[in-house]
Amino acid sequence: MAKLINGKEVSSAVKKKVGDEVLLLKQKGIIPGLAVVLVGDDPASRIYVNNKKKACEQVGIYSVEYTLPAATTQNELINLIEKLNCDSKINGILVQLPLPAHIDEKAVIEAISPLKDVDAFNAVNVGRIMQGDYRFLPCTPAGIMELLDYENIDVAGKNCVIIGRSNIVGKPMAMLMLHRDATVTVCHSKTKNLAEICSRADILVAAVGKPRFVTADMVKDGAVVIDVGINRDKDGKLCGDVAFDEVEPKVSYITPVPGGVGPMTIAVLMKNTITAAKLQNN
Ligand code: NDP
Repeated sequence: MAKLINGKEVSSAVKKKVGDEVLLLKQKGIIPGLAVVLVGDDPASRIYVNNKKKACEQVGIYSVEYTLPAATTQNELINLIEKLNCDSKINGILVQLPLPAHIDEKAVIEAISPLKDVDAFNAVNVGRIMQGDYRFLPCTPAGIMELLDYENIDVAGKNCVIIGRSNIVGKPMAMLMLHRDATVTVCHSKTKNLAEICSRADILVAAVGKPRFVTADMVKDGAVVIDVGINRDKDGKLCGDVAFDEVEPKVSYITPVPGGVGPMTIAVLMKNTITAAKLQNN
């Protein structure tokens, strides 16, 4: 039977530390501020934005939400970002993705000042991640590293397999693990012999976006399994990318969904907002 890696517990510990740092900053007259921008009315995005606002309240970060109609033009959105770039009360800017199809996400991300890019999606920050010179940590992968550290799971020399190569999860995850001396394999939809590659992993990270994608035959006995997926099953119930019921008995550690990686992403976002406030106030 696997040990469940408790993301709620670890994220609470991270947020507690952030809260302590916020108090110290406030004593110096610095109030960290986060602007969250939501375009349109995607229900999942709404939930994510609400959770981020709630986390800000918990740790004492000042937060402002901008909810824009789905018909907002790219120029209107970029104008808002430029205004926030110059707003001294705002240290971090988060634009909730995905954006409506008529808006070029890349152009929007590049409009965010690299010093306020708390999601670390801007090319400047992505470049720094490649170099291992982190200003802002990529939220979800950094949250996963925190979970592994909390459980004293060392990635050095381990065979780590990541399913998914997105800019927000798979690619930065590979970089963080590589910088910590793991041997990393990144798989995607064109990968051949996926099950065989996965079944050799000491640590398997699933970031596919497909319910029950990782089945028991794809995991090695005693492996560590990190489930990044947030999906709805056919009954509308929240589930990950891993067929938890059949994988869990085979492995040593596993993250549940919900309550695994999800809360960590937000905790790292809070951490990044503090980093941004410090950077902008020397
Ligand atoms: P993307 O859709 O951007 O990427 C999915 C990746 O999975 C792609 O690289 C794709 O390959 C790969 N893939 C799809 N089908 C297969 C297949 N049959 N075999 C192998 N690889 C496949 O998703 P994200 O990275 O943004 O998110 C992944 C999941 O994680 C989603 O469920 C999302 O909701 C969740 N998520 C959770 C977060 C959290 O905080 N817990 C944060 C961010 C995301 P290819 O590149 O070839 O298309």
